[in-house]
Amino acid sequence: MRTRRAALAVTAVSLALSLTACGQSSDGGGKEEKKGGKGSTVGIAMPTKSSERWIADGKNMVSQFEELGYKTNLQYGEDNVAQQVAQIENMITKGVDVLVIAAIDGRALSDVLQQAAAQNIKVISYDRLILGTKNVDYYASFDNEKVGVLQATYLVDKLGLKSGKKGPFNIELFAGSPDDNNTGYFFDGAWKTLKPYIDKKQLVVGSGQTKLDQVTTLRWDGGTAQRRMDDLLTKSYGSQDVDAVLSPYDGISIGILSALKSDGYGTPAKPYPLVTGQDAEVASIKSIIAGNQTMTVYKDTRALAKQAVQMADAVLNDKKAEVNDEKSYNNGTKVVPAYLLNPVSVDKTNYQKELVDSGYIKASDLT
Ligand code: BGC
Repeated sequence: MRTRRAALAVTAVSLALSLTACGQSSDGGGKEEKKGGKGSTVGIAMPTKSSERWIADGKNMVSQFEELGYKTNLQYGEDNVAQQVAQIENMITKGVDVLVIAAIDGRALSDVLQQAAAQNIKVISYDRLILGTKNVDYYASFDNEKVGVLQATYLVDKLGLKSGKKGPFNIELFAGSPDDNNTGYFFDGAWKTLKPYIDKKQLVVGSGQTKLDQVTTLRWDGGTAQRRMDDLLTKSYGSQDVDAVLSPYDGISIGILSALKSDGYGTPAKPYPLVTGQDAEVASIKSIIAGNQTMTVYKDTRALAKQAVQMADAVLNDKKAEVNDEKSYNNGTKVVPAYLLNPVSVDKTNYQKELVDSGYIKASDLT
């Protein structure tokens, strides 16, 4: 191990020098077998600490990798693409043995992953698929389309649309960040569930904004969503109320609810519309208990970390990782073998069982 590390350090220095010299990625030299087992280092690049789930993802992976005897180098890119690229470059220079990456911009990593490939560093795409490069080995995520299906199905059920008689109800649609590959999957799942009712005019999108590029929210930012909701309420809901809002993520739901509150919603005379969410973040579970947000989609980050850990451990030991999907996730260059977990719809009626009893959220955090 020591010899290997020393060799790697030399490689890393020469890589750094060649990078400084030409200012771009290097393909050349330094190929070396990466080995698993105690002492190997896992570089973990996460997108932001501004959302609870990514903090949990990072913590879960660090503890699970450490249990197996790995060292970790965990970095957060704070939703700044250049910062994340620099962090990954730095990990490569320092000689990490494998990378686990949740990309901020799924298309921005081709050059840096070419550098990783030149060092024979394998890459696990975490939660969000890395696009447009062959240098991604496995993908650990959830059934992302199902997330959208769960959110929309909840709205369809609660509005009672299946009977075919109810409506019309007013709905507004929000989607996630346009540079996150998951955004399209979430939205497509929701859209195909809602569309039959929109076609039958049981659901009416008051603003008329139904195309993905009209409804995205850059960097999943709650403030951005709040401003868009303010605008929609002012321009499209003079005399009418909005009955449902498709929101892709809890942080966005909180922003939407703030805009609704400023517009007079949240009283017995004018109750909040149904508002969906995702990630089962503490603030949103409290909001659900208080009767403000309506539901969220719970994705157990402990289970996701476990899949990423088994994948990294496998590639470092020259084994095939366990996957359960080898067709759904084409990144534009290759189909990436994936392990997809099951998302779960959570509202007032089952948060206790799903989140508290399972130990995902402490009961004391909800009081
Ligand atoms: C994740 C979601 C999360 C969103 C915002 C997506 O890529 O899959 O769980 O809500 O990013 O952080």
